[in-house]
Amino acid sequence: MELHIGIDDTDSTQGGCTTYIAARLVERLTKIGAKFTDYPKIIRLNPNIPYKTRGNAAVSLRLNIPSELYDSVQEETIEEVEENSWLGREGTDPAIVFLKGRPLFKIRALSRKALIDVVSVQEAQEVLIRCHTAAFTYGSRLGLVGALSATGQELDGDHTFELVAYREKKNWGTPRRVDQMSVKRMDRLTAPRTFNSYDFENERTLVTPHGPDPVLLGIRGENPRVVVKALHMVRIQEPVERWVVFRTNHGTDAHLNATPLNGKIRPFTPAVLKGTVFDKPERITGSHVFFTLKCDGAKVRCAAFEPTGRFRGIVAKLIPGDQVTVFGGLRKRAGFPMALNLEKLQIHRLQEDVRIENPTCPRCGKHLKSSGIGQGFKCAKCSFKAPNAKKTSTTKLRSLEAGLYVPDRRAQRHLTKPLSRYGLEKKTHSNGPPIGKWHDP
Ligand SMILES: [Zn+2]
Repeated sequence: MELHIGIDDTDSTQGGCTTYIAARLVERLTKIGAKFTDYPKIIRLNPNIPYKTRGNAAVSLRLNIPSELYDSVQEETIEEVEENSWLGREGTDPAIVFLKGRPLFKIRALSRKALIDVVSVQEAQEVLIRCHTAAFTYGSRLGLVGALSATGQELDGDHTFELVAYREKKNWGTPRRVDQMSVKRMDRLTAPRTFNSYDFENERTLVTPHGPDPVLLGIRGENPRVVVKALHMVRIQEPVERWVVFRTNHGTDAHLNATPLNGKIRPFTPAVLKGTVFDKPERITGSHVFFTLKCDGAKVRCAAFEPTGRFRGIVAKLIPGDQVTVFGGLRKRAGFPMALNLEKLQIHRLQEDVRIENPTCPRCGKHLKSSGIGQGFKCAKCSFKAPNAKKTSTTKLRSLEAGLYVPDRRAQRHLTKPLSRYGLEKKTHSNGPPIGKWHDP
């Protein structure tokens, strides 16, 4: 029988990682005779949920097992989650969903909603009951939303792969020993088949996370072969406990593609808005850049925050009248108006930058002052009078071009499609057996 296992929220801000549990389960379940019919999947959901600070990722496994194996699969999975979750920590509320057969429409619909909206535990619970699906939850049961939604994401369209390598437990919490130069070289040799491995603007590696979690590194790419090849190009100076290739919705814009153009503007959801720049962008403390977009009569604050790097410089060059589409997440912080956190900017048409000024004085070159309506101009310095002079208009050259702009690599969201992936999108499902190494010698 076909079985989908969804797991979410096993980690806390102090450590742990749901993908690590999935990686271990691939080994454990294979050992007891379960057959995997797809790569294990990492599913990123709505990145704008305020209480999900670590990227909102859930995992899902798809297996084919004889019915008599079901109980053992369930036992092994629960045991694994209980052993390796940060149970009892604040914000760690794991859930496991066991879904027999293909995900029904209701689950797929919930899953689509979880990508672009806020789904309550109660909503997830109702779908669970209606679909006669088994679930095990802990703590506040918050993990149920992600666990159930992960089973409903089949990644039939565009998807990517991520090879995740894990550290030996004794090294958790210590600096990761991965040679930066080798990552840079690997990126040069494998991109665009791999993506977002190295940040050339800021000269830093992007494959290694920074927290105390078991992840040593993650390499993203278009197919399993290239990420495995890339792993072997990276010089790693500590033991690798195991590595596994996941299929994911990373770098696919899944959340933006599912968002209707100029749809409802609500906090904690993604938005894609086509409109006109309403005011001149301004820099605010911490060198964030803000501007107002006018769209269907509504005005929306748009923000390019400091980590987006050079992208802020592009945003700062906009002027009122420019026609753009903004892509991003709507955030609302207490005491501040709702703002769209820019993930992408498409500039369709640039407004001419025309400046209308008073004429200049032929003697001293200063701008003349108006002497009143219909009375010409006068120089404030030398009193030169020009009763018949007219205002002049000059068109400034724009140092900006129409096109698509994205933030610096380090600020890109997991789900955001990097520029290098445009044209590489997949249209069909690709599945295969799990690829990985459980114990590196
Ligand atoms: Zn003058």
